[in-house]
Amino acid sequence: MAINKSTAPVLFSDLQLSARTLKGLNECNYRDLTEIQRRTINYALQGRDIVAAAKTGSGKTLALVPIIEHLYNEKWEKDHGLRALVIAPSRELAQQIYDVIGRVAKYHDVSIGLIIGGKDLRREKKNIDRCNILIGTPGRILHHMDQTFIFNCDNTKYLVLDEADRCLDMGFKQQMDSIIKNLPAERQTLLFSATQTKSVQDLARLSLKNNAMYVNAHEHA
Ligand code: ADP
Ligand code: MG
Repeated sequence: MAINKSTAPVLFSDLQLSARTLKGLNECNYRDLTEIQRRTINYALQGRDIVAAAKTGSGKTLALVPIIEHLYNEKWEKDHGLRALVIAPSRELAQQIYDVIGRVAKYHDVSIGLIIGGKDLRREKKNIDRCNILIGTPGRILHHMDQTFIFNCDNTKYLVLDEADRCLDMGFKQQMDSIIKNLPAERQTLLFSATQTKSVQDLARLSLKNNAMYVNAHEHA
């Protein structure tokens, strides 16, 4: 029987998410999906690479929920090391993402770390091998890749480039290229930006798989 009704998810509870994640989302009062979340989360859950452009404030941070789900479904444990790396253009933004993921993943047994300039480098170095999800700025991440002996990204399977357009505008292209080169090629990459500039497209072409999904939420706003 033909069903005309759109099957696009409307609520977080329409998605195939674990009860733990739904509980975390619910406590943060996240129930309805924003457009960019409706159009990306299911694909990211399926393992697709994604390039998503949507204006600031459209809810791109929560498009990271699939990363939490992947680690949970893989039974990735604290002592398994780094599985997901999130790159953000500024300390403030990295901190914001860290706070949101921390709250949403409250009922998961996952360790999340923040590596940004201005924080105690020695402490970061000591704890870095215990993080499953790391969020940081490009310069600081690269610093640890180059100089922190215990920093191991051989098992990093998920890469998130948040505000990729701003990362590029701020002159982080070289650092981002070097970071990406250090990561296993066999991975899922999610790229978020407010705009789809030529440099964002170039970055996407170089760092994402050929079958990446392109979502532009401005068109339907
Ligand atoms: P972007 O990264 O696209 O600029 P954010 O992820 O920072 O947007 O989200 C912008 C604001 O919208 C935040 O305050 C966030 O808490 C809120 N928000 C995001 N998704 C939802 C949702 N599904 N329901 C309610 N509020 C949301
Ligand atoms: Mg954002």
